[in-house]
Parts: sequence; structure tokens; C-alpha cells
Amino acid sequence: MSDFIDELKSEFGEQTIFTGEEISNRASSYWDPTPISAKAIAKPRTTSELSQIVKRCHDVGQIIVTHGGLTGCAKAADTTPEHVIISTERMTKIEEIDEIGGTITMESGAILEVVQNKVAEKGFYFPLDLGARGSCTVGGNAATNAGGINVIRYGMMRNHILGLEAVLADGTIISSMNKMIKNNAGYDLKQLFIGSEGTLGIITRIVVKLETLAISRQTVLVGLDSFSNVVGFLNHMRKSTGPRLSAYEVMWGNYYDAVTGEGLHKPPLGRGYPYYVITECTGTNPNSDEVVFMKTLEDALEAELIIDAIIPKSEAERQAVWIVREGFEPILTNVPLFLYDVSLPIKNMEGYIAEVQKYIHATWPDGACYVIGHIGDGNLHLMVCPGEGDETLHDKSDALVYGPLKKIGGSVSAEHGIGNEKKAWLSHSRSDGEIELMKTLKKTLDPKNILNPGVIF
Ligand SMILES: Cc1cc2nc3c(=O)[nH]c(=O)nc-3n(C[C@H](O)[C@H](O)[C@H](O)COP(=O)(O)OP(=O)(O)OC[C@H]3O[C@@H](n4cnc5c(N)ncnc54)[C@H](O)[C@@H]3O)c2cc1C
Repeated sequence: MSDFIDELKSEFGEQTIFTGEEISNRASSYWDPTPISAKAIAKPRTTSELSQIVKRCHDVGQIIVTHGGLTGCAKAADTTPEHVIISTERMTKIEEIDEIGGTITMESGAILEVVQNKVAEKGFYFPLDLGARGSCTVGGNAATNAGGINVIRYGMMRNHILGLEAVLADGTIISSMNKMIKNNAGYDLKQLFIGSEGTLGIITRIVVKLETLAISRQTVLVGLDSFSNVVGFLNHMRKSTGPRLSAYEVMWGNYYDAVTGEGLHKPPLGRGYPYYVITECTGTNPNSDEVVFMKTLEDALEAELIIDAIIPKSEAERQAVWIVREGFEPILTNVPLFLYDVSLPIKNMEGYIAEVQKYIHATWPDGACYVIGHIGDGNLHLMVCPGEGDETLHDKSDALVYGPLKKIGGSVSAEHGIGNEKKAWLSHSRSDGEIELMKTLKKTLDPKNILNPGVIF
């Protein structure tokens, strides 16, 4: 152990600065069970303690990598034996739910699902939801500007954050814990930290604007025979249910078939349709909401936009529908497997996926490309399984997926960020001028390059 870590231990205590088994027992991430490597893990309890640890690291040029729930998909929290990890796992306090203003103030290590449940007890809805809800932190959600299944209605994490506190690379605490919707007093500094993947500061506290908790919810899983009907049904839902439309998740048929079947998820609807969509509406008027929803589905069936549908009759049945979309573990058993998170105009999606699938099959005859997506947000997730080989195929796979995206003007990251994984492709989606300004911001806020160095660029 280095002298510096000894100094940190004697200054902050062995109950705050950990080495040894705390490191060897810690999985690298949700996706990778191999142990992390690092010099030490710091687990501060307060912003002030976190700021003092950061300041000590800054003084000696010690690199820091911030850990939230480690569910990120872009390898942005990867470490080496030279790194000190700062984990927010002890900073989980929910400080206030302001029932008059409709806001929640909390520490950044709070787990998303815990926060969702706490605000629901008070009649509010936390407007972000995603499959990793049980493990990801609200700080990680802010640092990655997370999206998820409700973006179609409420927007991304950036849209929900009113105030934020962060610790800069030199330990300075910037507190911008605004609770108002309107505040144009100068630059909106919180935006610097949202989506910056821990490279500009460590987020310690957040204020989020809450929504009203719905008291009615209608869910349906439908089978469709063409992509044009996937789009037609989306527009039909939008027109008929208006702002109550809160999720519209598409699954290509090969994905649905791969995660259902014997020993896997029970298929709520027959297998074999080219496309499946789970869509959900929430509202505040159970009787009329239900009537409008049912009429919308009847009209869609009559117009042959959809060919089959199953409406869950209980929460258990609803979960059995959602598990097909969110429980993609059966696909994770494919090794190697490369995950993608692209955005592009809806009108280009069908052709783009067909082109990528054609390249994948031409390159790897036993390979597959499974596709799901938040299509209302223009966002698709591709899971590429070459069916042979190892991790060295990643670059080739990237070229097959990102090549056709460039000419459409799509983005190599819709919601997961760039991390360490997609750096080589940043220029596909950002101009030289944009990247230069990003680097200027980084140099200004972190001149010693100690916060998540190498992430993004
Ligand atoms: C099953 C599953 C489903 C998912 N679905 C979605 C989805 O629908 N939409 C979506 O957007 N993402 C999704 N993700 C990705 C992931 O959950 C999000 O990126 C999430 O926001 C990461 O939060 P985390 O706490 O796990 O962050 P981590 O993985 O710990 O960290 C991610 C990045 O944020 C930084 N960071 C973490 N905390 C802080 C902090 N307090 N201050 C500064 N930087 C910090 C890290 O250094 C790293 O750069 C999914 C992941 C899984 C496993």
C-alpha cells in the first residue's frame, strides 16, 4: 500500500478508506463480475468529507474514479490498480420531500427505486424509471443523464433536475441547490455536471422536480407485422391518449423469441411476430382513462395496425409482460456480446437495422443482432452476438453498427454516455469544434486531469 493511502487512512480512518478485501470482493460492474482493481476505496458519509478526500487527492495528483451503483453501460467507472475510487454508497439520505413545491432533495448515492417508493408514499411520481432501478443511484443517473422507459412522457434526467451540488477536482464545493423551475440568474451551472460522466465534478446532492402519482394505469403488449405499423401504432397512441402515453417500448421479433421459451421467460403473447410493443398510459381518472385506452386498442385492431394483444389483468401479469423487455439475461449468456445505444430519426430505423443485420450475418454467419428500443425517443439498443470469437471482435462489431449510422446523422450514444468504450466514435456524433470546447471545459475545471481521466476523450 502506498504512503499516500496510509496518510488517507490515518486522516479519515479505516472505516472510510478501505483496501484489501473491500477491493477484491467488489465486482467490476453489473455487467462484469471480475473483481475491480484500485489502490483504495473511499466511502465518505458527507459532502464535506468527500470534498476533503478529493482535495487531498488533488494535492498529490491522485486519480479518482467515482462509483455509483455500477450499472453504467459505457465502462465509464472502470479502474486500474493506480486509481482511488470514491463511492457514494454511504451518501443515501433523502433530506426532504417538499409536498408544497413538489420536489425531493437527496444525496447522490440514493438508490433510484428507494427514491421512487419514498415519493410514491407521499402521492408523487419520480419521473425517471429504468431497468436498473434497484441498483443505480440518482447521482449516477445525473452523471449519465439517464433516459429509460418514461422519457417519451417526461424527458431525460436533465429535464427533472432543479438543483445540484458537486465537488470539483480541487475539493471546492459548488452548491446550486435551486428548487425553482425558473432561475435565469446567469449560467445554469448544474448542466455542466449532468451527463458529464464524472469528468467535471462529483455530484453529491440533487433536487428533482416530482410529478403527480397516477392513479390509473393501462398496459398492453401487442404483436405487429411490420415496422410501418410500429410507427403507425405509436402515432395512433399519441393522438388518442395524448399526454397520458408514458411508455412505448419496441422489441424486434428475434429479441422476443430469444428471451422467451422453454426455461426462459414465459411468453405473454405467442412468439413469431416480427415486432412487439409494450405500451402504457397513466392518468388520474381510472374510469375514463380505461375507456379511452380500450377504444384506442379496438381502433388499432380494426385498422390492422396491431394483430394480437394481451392486456395484463393484475400487477403480477403486468410484471410478466415487462420482464420480457427488461429481463434480457438470456441474451447475456452469449459470449462475446456487444451492447449498443444509438439514436436516429424514426424514419431511418427500419432500413438502418436491416443494413446492420445484413452486415452482421455476412461477417458472422452464426451471429445475431437483437434489437429493442425506446422508439418514441428515437433510441434503439442493439445486442450484437458474433456467435464465435472473443472480445477482440469488438472493433469490427463497432464498425458494423456505427458505419451506417454516420450517414444518417445518428448518435453513437443516446442515453448511456461515451465512457471508456465509445471514445473512438465520439467524432461520429460531435463536431471538432464541440469536442474542443468539451476539452476546454475539462481543462478549466480539472487542470490536473484527476477526475475519471480518459472518459469521453
Ligand atoms: C438492466 C439495466 C437497464 C438499464 N436501462 C437503462 C435505460 O433504460 N436508460 C439509461 O439511460 N440507462 C440504462 N442503464 C444504464 C445505467 O443504469 C445508467 O447509466 C445509470 O444512470 C447509471 O447509474 P449508476 O449509479 O449505476 O452509475 P455508475 O455505473 O456507478 O457510473 C456511471 C458513470 O457516472 C459516474 N458517476 C456515478 N455517480 C456519480 C456521481 N455521484 N457524481 C459524478 N459522477 C458519477 C461514474 O464515474 C461513471 O462515469 C441500464 C443498466 C442496466 C444494468
